Amino acid sequence: MSTKQAAHYPKPIYMDHAATTPCDPRVVEAMLPYFTEHFGNPGSRNHKMGWDAEAGVDLAREQVAKLIGADEKEVIFTSGATEGNNLAIKGAAYLYEKAPAGSGQPRGHIITGTIEHKAVLDPCKRLQKEGFDVSFLQAPPDGVYTAAMVLAAIRPDTILVSIMWANNEIGTINEIREIGKVCKERGIIFHVDGTQWVGKMPTDVNKDNIDLLTFSGHKMYGPKGVGAMYVRRRGPRVRLQALQDGGGQERGFRSGTLNVTGIVGLGKACEIAMQEMEHDAMRLAKLRKKLEDGLTSRLDSSAVNGHKDKRLPHIANISFGFVEGEGLMMAIKEIACSSGSACTSASLEPSYVLKGLGVGDELAHSSLRLSLGRWTTEAEVDFAIEKIVQGVSKLREMSPLYDMYKEGIDISKIEWAHH
Ligand code: PMP
Repeated sequence: MSTKQAAHYPKPIYMDHAATTPCDPRVVEAMLPYFTEHFGNPGSRNHKMGWDAEAGVDLAREQVAKLIGADEKEVIFTSGATEGNNLAIKGAAYLYEKAPAGSGQPRGHIITGTIEHKAVLDPCKRLQKEGFDVSFLQAPPDGVYTAAMVLAAIRPDTILVSIMWANNEIGTINEIREIGKVCKERGIIFHVDGTQWVGKMPTDVNKDNIDLLTFSGHKMYGPKGVGAMYVRRRGPRVRLQALQDGGGQERGFRSGTLNVTGIVGLGKACEIAMQEMEHDAMRLAKLRKKLEDGLTSRLDSSAVNGHKDKRLPHIANISFGFVEGEGLMMAIKEIACSSGSACTSASLEPSYVLKGLGVGDELAHSSLRLSLGRWTTEAEVDFAIEKIVQGVSKLREMSPLYDMYKEGIDISKIEWAHH
């Protein structure tokens, strides 16, 4: 849609918090002085402007560290989870490789999953081209990766395991602590893409056995274009090869003048999350249940995707049989949500995550991801239920397949004529 069209479009209710969240006004307030008053470069060591900016960054580093149970020295600021994932995965692979490129041996073995975000899959695919072996573990139908699955894939030359904490499309939660234990016992570096988890659910990098953790500010009511990365310093001290050369900021891991305003905002978002996530999670779990129950009880042939319980409290991914994906999105224009994932909805490919779980192409197309957030109200949930029930019912009225299904004809047994 063009910006011109967008200007005349009525404002829908927002149920796409897994794509991004609005900035919390308290975050914006904390950021504002750093645009104008405290505008200095935190790398400027000789004057007050530099020191003031540095103080803002230092506070943010403390706030981030506290949220994830880390030491401040273990926090590296990045531009977001995409950069963090690239740095974690490539940076660790290059530094811990077992055989040099061109030796004829695999440079090392990496384990990840097929339903990871592209910001993990694509760095892994690049490493594969560069001579690393990568095992992409197939997702089970419930979407939850277990320690046993990872253990079965470990080889003597495994150097890195990268498994996301919670999936961005279906919200499923993987066995992070147990996978971390398996890795720790074998001296394998464990990276976790925590983009959908951190700031929503309790995090402790030590108890959870994590070596590298990456996340983005804009998924937790902070600004876009800023993120953080945890790099373990003790037991073991994890090293990374930097991907960007320059001024040596962030202890050499990530050169470039710090995004001070963004970092201050991320810090504030972490502080608020510490105080409010438990309350938010409980409230959203109730609303999500209402949404899912409301839809699946009123619409037959609809199903929630992913594990029933091992899921984030605010993401619902539901497939509706006998409707066509594009038609469904058109029918519910009053609700801002995703079909599959925001990152793949630009193309008409069915979601690779849903396909990865074994959901068929048709159903994957006619699935909605509805993700709730800090300001989602019960009235909005009621509204969404009504609109989706109306939309799906209307589309089904026009569907000959749905008529046949209602008449008890087994559609899977029909032999279609191909012209
Ligand atoms: N990982 C996951 C699980 C995500 O959901 C996202 C955002 N969709 C990213 C990585 C990338 O984050 P960013 O676009 O902020 O770099």
